[in-house]
Order: sequence, then structure tokens, then C-alpha cells
Amino acid sequence: TGPGLFGSRRNSAGFDLTDEADLARIEAARAPHAATLFDARPRLAGPLAGGQRDEIRNPATGAPVGNVIPAAAPDVETALASARVWDAAPAERAEVLRRASDLYEAEFGPIFALLAREAGKSQADAVSELREAVDFLRYYADGAGTLSAPPRGVFTCISPWNFPLAIFTGQIAAALAAGNAVIAKPAEQTPLIATFAVDLMHRAGVPATALQLLPGDGPTVGAALTRDPRVNGVCFTGSTETALMIRRAMAEHLDPSAPLIAETGGLNAMIVDSTALPEQAVRDILASAFQSAGQRCSALRCLYLQEDIAGHVLPMLYGAMDELALGDPWALSTDVGPVIDAEAQAGIRAYVEAARAEGRVLKELAAPAAGTFIAPTVIRVAGIDRMEREIFGPVLHVATFKANEIDAVVDAVNATGYGLTFGLHTRIDDRVQQIVDRIRVGNTYVNRNQIGAVVGSQPFGGEGLSGTGPKAGGPEYLSRFTAHPATHSAP
Ligand code: GLU
Repeated sequence: TGPGLFGSRRNSAGFDLTDEADLARIEAARAPHAATLFDARPRLAGPLAGGQRDEIRNPATGAPVGNVIPAAAPDVETALASARVWDAAPAERAEVLRRASDLYEAEFGPIFALLAREAGKSQADAVSELREAVDFLRYYADGAGTLSAPPRGVFTCISPWNFPLAIFTGQIAAALAAGNAVIAKPAEQTPLIATFAVDLMHRAGVPATALQLLPGDGPTVGAALTRDPRVNGVCFTGSTETALMIRRAMAEHLDPSAPLIAETGGLNAMIVDSTALPEQAVRDILASAFQSAGQRCSALRCLYLQEDIAGHVLPMLYGAMDELALGDPWALSTDVGPVIDAEAQAGIRAYVEAARAEGRVLKELAAPAAGTFIAPTVIRVAGIDRMEREIFGPVLHVATFKANEIDAVVDAVNATGYGLTFGLHTRIDDRVQQIVDRIRVGNTYVNRNQIGAVVGSQPFGGEGLSGTGPKAGGPEYLSRFTAHPATHSAP
């Protein structure tokens, strides 16, 4: 087999959770880390000042997972002063990143333990997250050799807790592959896995001055790293509001050519028309809305169901929901883990309570009493334009439409201003083409679920309020991290 569209690289094989041998390997490798206390602290190419030590607790059980020493203001200065672009040949950078990917694979035991205990990831999610992180490292390593332009300089990478390994690693790997110096700020909720990952990248050979880690809060670390003129670019994944804040800070303080590469929120819809196969649609709705406890920016938020089949599909969906197992993600049987923390839980609960007061809760499971769980919930809405904001949890909104309203539904989805993922279940070929041509989103999925984009074959990213592009895991991404992107044209 010759090189395909994206080269000859194969994605990581990962693990098969239906294979007894793979399960036994996972159990044996993560068991020693069931109660380990991990440590997070800045990784600096200079002396550490350090802030107030804090404890990280398991969102499902409340048990301690480890401690974090966050960065203090002087640490941000140390990182900025000691950052140096990685002046190794592209082939050498690629080799180091590949070595890091091998280390990630070898360390799957503690990584799966951390993903479950610090981030509340189910085993299935942990397996796909590690695989995605490995794929990013190898994909961008391959890309390093194709770049002819020099690095931009210092890149700030600000990553979210919902993919504390994959997105954290993807941002850094891209910036490093292009030869930049990286200062990474992981999400406050997940500094342990970030520290573990940075240590692996250093072990693989990334110089300490090319990759520094600053766990800490937004005001101390994030704000400083987006308004210092020594920063030459920012890569951010998180909320749309934060992206706008970053853009303002950059506009005021950074070189006007410094790029912001942002992946943000979405109000993702799925249309299921009367020709869809109900069993298949229900399976894909379930995965899209409730996998990862709905904490993916790609997750399905609003299902548009053709009226004619709603009376058939909804009871089927509720029945399938009843089969979902909620609980500690350490258990292999768990389908839906906790949401990330008590603050997230309180916000989603308040939202569901308000909907309940209006009589709009159609279906709700029972959540475990302890831990920061939100039970998968279905809420009736008139349409997506009525939803004020993205609810980042296992809450699915459902609207129905009549056969002649399908164009209006597409208009409503476009009118949200967001444009991340979109799902479509239909057996009408012409309709697929018509809708795909009109819908303004980054990733469209037909007759399947709408989460879990795959590095190298399904580049991921949105339009409008959902992100700046270029898509992560796609062929255009790396050039944005270089000083003269291939797409740049002189004015
Ligand atoms: N890439 C992930 C997916 O396709 C979503 C990333 C995110 O939630 O930020 O499901």
C-alpha cells in the first residue's frame, strides 16, 4: 500500500476493550497506580518560585489523586526569559516527537490511571484519548520535514480539561514540530496528567528551554502569557468567551502578525429524518450526546427529529439510556463518568432545574449521590435558536420538525453563529448533498455519531464562533505555527 492522502503513517493501534488479553494488560498496568499520589508543578528552564500547594481530587470519588504546586507570577517571567526556539534539524525534531509517542504508549498504565482518576474518563475514553495523543505526535512529526519556513518563536499553548492528554499534547506537538519554543498552561483541573506528559516529552529529548509547563490559574498564568510581547503566537482550546478575551489581549499587546489558533465551543445539532434507521440513529445519538458525559465540544446538543418518527424513536432512545451505567470510571462497566468538578455540576444542575420548572424535562436518569455526577437528561426545546449557551454535560435537547421544515432547521443551526460538528441521519442521497452544501460547520457526520474525529483522516475544527481553523490533525495545521505560512499572500 502506497502513501495515501495523508501519507503512509498508520494511526496507533490502541487497545480493544472487547479483547480479554488487552483488558488483562490494561488491568495489570494501571493497578499499581490506583492510589498513587501524583505530583504536578511547573517545569521551568530556571529556578522555581511556586505558589500555594493544592490538592487534586477524583471527581467520581473525592479521593486524592495528587498535589499541584501552581506557577506564581515570577515563574511566568522565568519561563518567558528562558524560552528558546528548538534549533534542531526538522528530522531530529521529528525523531524526538516519535520517541515521545513511543513513551506515551509504553506508559499506558499510569496514563489510564490518571485519565480515570484526575479527569473522570471512562476506560473507553481513556483508550481513545491516549491513541489520539500518540497520533498527534506522529502526525506532526511527519509534518515537520515538510515545512520550509522557520518557527515563529515562543508559542503559548492553553489547553482544556476535557482532553487533558490529547489536546494538550496535540497543541504542543504542533508548535514543537515547527521548531517553536512552547510555554504550556494546562487546565487548572488537570495539571497532573500534563506534568506526566511533559516529563515524557523531556525524556524523549525535547530541550527544557523548548518546552516549559506552567500549571496555574487563568489570571496569573494564562493572562500573562497572552499579553507579553515576547509571545509570538497562541494556541487555545476552550470556551468561546475565553478565546475572545485572548484575542483582545493579543490585539493590544502582541505583534499584529502573532496568530491565535483557537478551537472553541459549539451548539451542535443532528437531524434525523423519517427515512433514518431508528436503531442506528439511537445508537449514534447516545454516543454523540452522552459519551464522555457530554464533555466534548463536538458533542450533540440539539437533536432535530422528524415529527413522524418521534413517537417511535424517543421511547427507543429512553430505553437505551436506561442501559447506561453511571459510576466511577475506573470500573470497566462504566459508560458515563462524572462531570469535571462541583462548579460544572452546579451550573448544569441549575440549568436542568430551570427546564424542569417549565415542564420541559422529558427523560432523566438517576445519578450516584456522591461525586460530581450529572445524570443523562433529555430536554424538550422549540429549536436550537432558543438555546442560550452550550451546556457542557450529558444534557440532550430535542426538537421536532415537519417534513417541509427541514430547510428552516438548517437555517436555524447556521443562525446560531457556531459551526463545529453536525450529524445527519437520512437515507435520501440528494438530501445529504443539499444539506452538506448548506450547513456551515467544520465537521459533518452522516449516518454515524458526531464525535471522535481521527487524526490524519478527519481533521477537526470549526467555523464562526467555534474556532479559527486550521483544523487540528489536518494538513494545513502546522504551517500556521511557522513564520511564513504557505497560505500567506502579500497584500
Ligand atoms: N476532537 C474531539 C472530537 O472529535 C473533540 C474535541 C473537544 O471536545 O475539544 O470528539
